[in-house]
Amino acid sequence: MHSLSARSFIKKAPFYMVLVFVTLLNIGIAVYGGKNPIVNASVLTLFIIAGVLLLRSRMRLEQKANYDALTKLPNRAKFYEVLTNTVRVLAPEETVHVLLMDLNRFKHINDTLGHPTGDQLLQQAAERLRKSFRKSDFIARLGGDEFAVIVSGPNDVATLEPIFKRTVLAFDGPFQLNDHAVDVGISIGIASYPKDGDTIDDVVKRADVAMYSAKNQRTGYSIYTSDKDLDLLNVVTLPVDLKKAIPNCELEVYYQPKKCLSTNKIIGVEALVRWNHPKYGLMSPTKFLPIAEQIGIMNDLTAFVMKESIHQVKRWSEMGLNIVVSINTSADDLCDSTKITQIASLLAETGVSPKNIILEVTETAIMSNPDETLKLLIVLNTMGVTISIDDFGTGHASLTYLKNLPIKELKIEHAFVKDMARNKQDYNIVSSTIILGQMAGCQVVAEGVEDVHTEELLRSLGCKIVQGFYISPPKPVHEITDFILPYNQHK
Ligand code: C2E
Ligand code: MG
Ligand code: MG
Repeated sequence: MHSLSARSFIKKAPFYMVLVFVTLLNIGIAVYGGKNPIVNASVLTLFIIAGVLLLRSRMRLEQKANYDALTKLPNRAKFYEVLTNTVRVLAPEETVHVLLMDLNRFKHINDTLGHPTGDQLLQQAAERLRKSFRKSDFIARLGGDEFAVIVSGPNDVATLEPIFKRTVLAFDGPFQLNDHAVDVGISIGIASYPKDGDTIDDVVKRADVAMYSAKNQRTGYSIYTSDKDLDLLNVVTLPVDLKKAIPNCELEVYYQPKKCLSTNKIIGVEALVRWNHPKYGLMSPTKFLPIAEQIGIMNDLTAFVMKESIHQVKRWSEMGLNIVVSINTSADDLCDSTKITQIASLLAETGVSPKNIILEVTETAIMSNPDETLKLLIVLNTMGVTISIDDFGTGHASLTYLKNLPIKELKIEHAFVKDMARNKQDYNIVSSTIILGQMAGCQVVAEGVEDVHTEELLRSLGCKIVQGFYISPPKPVHEITDFILPYNQHK
């Protein structure tokens, strides 16, 4: 109510000022009769000054009401005004495309690096958007880290895909915020008028559905289709369900073996979390981890996986199996110093050696909070825990930065490994990473080994440890134990 009446006053303010000015002018002319030339000149000067003041104040009011002070982009009110007007004059054969977008890791950056840094990020994001779109496209900041673009153009939205791809790419490179280089990323949802809705509200809602789909599937951008409505239902209900997943014992740790190519024995396993959703069944971490990050439960989730898997290492050791467990971590874990005491007390209570624990960190997680991460990893390394870089080469950490970290293992991303036998570029990336790892004194693990040919190729390149569907997919604890026991006895 308050903002509505303020807005209507702002809209009418110039009218009131003109009224006051004309009244004053009339009084002036009435009193002096317009006969005295000096008075006439003064009245004219006053008229011009008042006109300029009026114009300036109108522009200032207009700026305040319609533009965002931080990024200087049009705001939500202006966005709806322009969208309404564009749709109103649209020719029958024309289409208006609405793009809604939000930054992928804004909340985390804002929370960890502080609001002034968050503001800097939004300004730089606005600049990247300005460079990605044409002058004729209308870009607005709707609030928080939410931006929107109106693109009038071809009926077939697919012809605009190069623009969407270019925008996603523009947000791929790190943002330099004071001393921090941070990876952010953007998710874009696209819906079109009149194809996706009869009203602009419907079209905006559907662009929102598409945006959630892009975020969840990590596809960068997503064009609305009706089947994505189901995704939205998930987006609304899954966070609520996920908050209850740990107390309701719905999370389960699967394990995927790591095989040593010199001995042909299983030397370790990677702990990979799964969610047994009461309605949707077994759910992959790629589906629910982005939601876990959003709702801020990554620390609890990692604590759960650490507890389960370290206790499991103890049970395996009681069966005569010496297994090293690799545990994945998130950006949130790397700025949580209580992880040190959590790991120390789990090791104390189980008697498991720190040598049996590997913590996997990604470059993206490291770069989102480099200073805190460095401190934490140095302490964990001193305790005897091994630090591994997961999906090596897919993030944006520079080698100079990685050099300072106490890293003992590099894991080569499965996307490079699985096609290396057929794709020369992938082969080159894998072989040079193996050499790089060896020269840095790191153990190199190739993930995503799907066939014997790839395993042999890796062996010939000097890679010592492999992981992938060819050896075994991730399995529940009893199945993986049944797999390891005979494997390690006979091979
Ligand atoms: P990651 O850590 O790189 O784990 C390897 C992923 O590759 C696993 O997917 C695994 O199932 C898959 N994979 C294994 N072998 C092959 C293969 O031969 N071919 C192909 N194409 N894929 C293979 P998963 O289990 O779906 O996990 C996906 C990602 O989710 C993990 O990637 C990791 O980043 C994250 N994640 C899983 N569990 C946890 C967890 O407990 N905590 C955290 N923070 N992240 C986790
Ligand atoms: Mg991993
Ligand atoms: Mg990996």
